[in-house]
Amino acid sequence: MKDPGGDAPGGGMPSFPRPLPALEGDAAPYWRALARGAVELQHCAACRRHVFPPRPFCPLCLGREVAWQEVDARGRVATFTTVHRATHPWFTGVVPYVYALVELPCGVRLPTRLVDVRPEDVCVGIDVEPRFERVDDAVTLLHFAPRSGG
Ligand SMILES: [Zn+2]
Repeated sequence: MKDPGGDAPGGGMPSFPRPLPALEGDAAPYWRALARGAVELQHCAACRRHVFPPRPFCPLCLGREVAWQEVDARGRVATFTTVHRATHPWFTGVVPYVYALVELPCGVRLPTRLVDVRPEDVCVGIDVEPRFERVDDAVTLLHFAPRSGG
């Protein structure tokens, strides 16, 4: 029986279950959208801003009409740090990696991991696009990579 989280890159190390997000609660629609390759965020009908992380009301105006809608997920790196030390055994084979806040056109900043890029090639302001990593039937993770082809 294979660990549903998959084997950590780098292999050869003892296998630890991969830490995965909780798929229920306010964020459930977010994860369902990722599973079909889309990024959906809540949008507040009152102040017309997007809300993240998901919650039952708008934290900006306390409006309760927050509806899910698909957003343009091509963004840019707002800030980042390079992680050299794994904070969970699963990440031992992944470090060093870049943990970034990616700002989307709608203004939301998503915490994420950058992939397909060397840490030394990352700088603030570079354009990035989503990379959907399907872990299993329920879980798809959202990473970002430098935008290809302009
Ligand atoms: Zn609002």
